[in-house]
Amino acid sequence: MQKQSPPKLRIKNLPRFIVFSAISLILIILAIMTLFFLTTKLTETFNAQRQILQTSSTVNTAETNTTKATNSKNIKETLKKNPAAQANDPLADIKSRLRTDDTEGIKVIFLTFDDGPTERTGEVLDLLNTYNVKGTFFTTLHDGESAKAMYNRIVDEGHTLANHTSSHDYSLYNNPDDFYADVDKLDQYQMKITGLEQTSHVFRFPGGSLNANETCALGIVDQGWNYSDWNVSSGDGCADPPPSEVIAQNVINGCHDHDVSVVLCHAELKEQTRAALPTVIETLQDEGYTFLPMENDYTYPRQLQI
Ligand SMILES: [Zn+2]
Repeated sequence: MQKQSPPKLRIKNLPRFIVFSAISLILIILAIMTLFFLTTKLTETFNAQRQILQTSSTVNTAETNTTKATNSKNIKETLKKNPAAQANDPLADIKSRLRTDDTEGIKVIFLTFDDGPTERTGEVLDLLNTYNVKGTFFTTLHDGESAKAMYNRIVDEGHTLANHTSSHDYSLYNNPDDFYADVDKLDQYQMKITGLEQTSHVFRFPGGSLNANETCALGIVDQGWNYSDWNVSSGDGCADPPPSEVIAQNVINGCHDHDVSVVLCHAELKEQTRAALPTVIETLQDEGYTFLPMENDYTYPRQLQI
């Protein structure tokens, strides 16, 4: 039997096998390196994305906080009208009686200050703060940083920022559309300056409602405004006001005549009125009167009934 020679195939294919193995090894190494490279890149991308999201979240949180601060005044305004928020309000009963015009013996006073804000408004606000008394400011349109700061202080310190038209121009009563536009101009301005989404919608006609006319009165009420005149005058509306003692007595005596008093003052313009305010507040607080800021849904004295 002829002895078989060793298979030529093994010897013959050995270089191919080595080459094939080497190429395979290189390919495997390349594949591993590629995989490692891709994994590293993906990790870096993921981390970068996560960092962006975290930064974005921080920015969003900061923006949200800013928005919250800006809107806090609006929320305060909304809460005022929220029955749940009034549950712990010690004045809720008085306010409820004002809303239903059930006011016999209620002893409430609304201090109102017309025609500001001026550079003296800060003094009036400081004084009211001393006694923890809230008032109502029937402002006209004043620009300048000082006036703008005062619109904001009025709102921030819990007083009512009310509307007394932009221009205080009596001639506008002859053209109701111009008159409404003048009221709206101040409304928009007050919202812009204070950040309020809605103003108090408490209104006083320049010179009082008798100085206006029924068309304007009906129109303004139709647009959601509640207008108030006054039933107690401090007597400071004239060019040469009386001394502070007389003004104080005017207000105190006037308030004794009413269950609900709306006191007309120009304290931001008249030094005598500012000087009279401590006596007025101390005397009437001692006598059990409650000072309140005006709200849209109370009933107020009106010279012109519609
Ligand atoms: Zn006025």
